[in-house]
Amino acid sequence: MNDKDRLVPPGRPEENLDPQDWEATRALGHRMLDDMLDYMKTVADRPAWQEVPEEVVENLREPLPLEPADETLVYEQFQRDVLPYPLGNIHPRFWAWVIGTGTPMGVLSELLAATMNPNMGGGVHAPRLVEEQVLEWMREIFGFPESSSGLLVSGGSMANLVGLAVARHTRAGFDVRKQGLHGWPRRLTVYGSRGMHSSVQKALELMGMGSDGLRMVDTRPDHSIDVEALKRMLQEDRAAGMQPVCIVANAGTVNTGAVDDMDALADICEDQDLWFHVDGAFGAWAAIVPERAGQMRGMNRADSLAFDLHKWLYMPIEIGCVLVRDRKQHLDTFSLTPAYLEQAVRGVAAGGNWFSDYGLQLSRNFRALKAWMSLKTYGLEKYRRLVRQNMDQAVYLGKLVETHPTLQLMAPVSLNIVVFRYLAEGLDGEATDELNKEILLRIQERGIAVPSGTRVNDRYVIRVAHVNHRTRYADMDLLVNSVLEVGREILGPGFQIQS
Ligand SMILES: *Cc1c(COP(=O)(O)O)cnc(C)c1O
Repeated sequence: MNDKDRLVPPGRPEENLDPQDWEATRALGHRMLDDMLDYMKTVADRPAWQEVPEEVVENLREPLPLEPADETLVYEQFQRDVLPYPLGNIHPRFWAWVIGTGTPMGVLSELLAATMNPNMGGGVHAPRLVEEQVLEWMREIFGFPESSSGLLVSGGSMANLVGLAVARHTRAGFDVRKQGLHGWPRRLTVYGSRGMHSSVQKALELMGMGSDGLRMVDTRPDHSIDVEALKRMLQEDRAAGMQPVCIVANAGTVNTGAVDDMDALADICEDQDLWFHVDGAFGAWAAIVPERAGQMRGMNRADSLAFDLHKWLYMPIEIGCVLVRDRKQHLDTFSLTPAYLEQAVRGVAAGGNWFSDYGLQLSRNFRALKAWMSLKTYGLEKYRRLVRQNMDQAVYLGKLVETHPTLQLMAPVSLNIVVFRYLAEGLDGEATDELNKEILLRIQERGIAVPSGTRVNDRYVIRVAHVNHRTRYADMDLLVNSVLEVGREILGPGFQIQS
């Protein structure tokens, strides 16, 4: 008889990936948890950022591990080579790009989510109800109807892609899923201000609409979209044979936090039968602060709204969300059910549409749990206070900048972003740019604080984008004092700027 026909297991020992000694792993797990809570508790005592030393870079280049290693030793290497060199975004003085802070509750819920490890593509299980509940809360917060649909995604980029895909599918005027863009005689175009996030362009490139399909509209002095210029462009583009399908509004541009007049954009969309997508990656959350809700007027008229929970709701990266007003249009864009995903009326494969019918991903993680646990633990009222606190602190920083004659505020503080620069007598534009780059680098490299840099009105500026629940007013004082000090230091004896 052939070996493979024999109905007995081979003699090899059977293996799995569970611990051989659960007690040892339990002890290690407790130690990790204690260490991580201490790490978070003491974060303010460490530098906001530090360079990874050459020796550590070397340590992190190793041959592929073929044989098992002791789990405790692996953890100890993490402690030695990884943990001390973070990006810095859990530190109270990190304000670079727009990166959230995370929370201890977020950490713990990631542990629980990974333990259950459900696949949130579909199926019948309680985690699915948790995601549905979170989406329901998001609809309520942003004033979307109960009949609307939504999806938790990796972040704002994916949320924009999903929203724009529904826009294209719904407004193309032909079956774009079936025929692609082949043979369609007119270029489909999408409109938004010059302050739009790059993820919108990437989405259009990916969807075959091309970066030429993205029509950038000039902005007003406050960096919001020039609505009249948009109207003219729509008219000219139509006359030139293009087919406008969508307007993208910014509820907080990434560069300066400028907010477009969303009511005006929604009106245009209504009049001209265009899809209204709002990129509210961080800014959408200003709507939960009553005295700021006016700035977000019109946002709830969006056909699709993209926003993050890992920026301004401080949840661990990754979690973003897209809401789509018309569930059917959302499903029509993405739903596809091969035989191996067919649904049953009973059992684990029942339960109506799957989350995979609303987006690109089939296998999806249980990111809903951190949202569910965080919202329940802190409550919306606490988030309201924190989002307000961040905006108040940004206004405070803006005022500090304005009171110093050597500092210049480079855009109005609309939400939570402050852009400014150091001025020095006798320096031209280029030299001032170089000076500010050097100030920023020194402040980062010394671990004092981590703002980032950008260009506003074609000048280099220091940018604070504030979605940090650990920041105190005193941290803003410290930043301003450090910028002044470092500026003076650079301009001191022996000063030389290379442009
Ligand atoms: C951050 C950001 C995005 C992208 O979101 P990710 O979560 O980083 O993918 C899109 N739009 C704006 C305005 C942003 O600030």
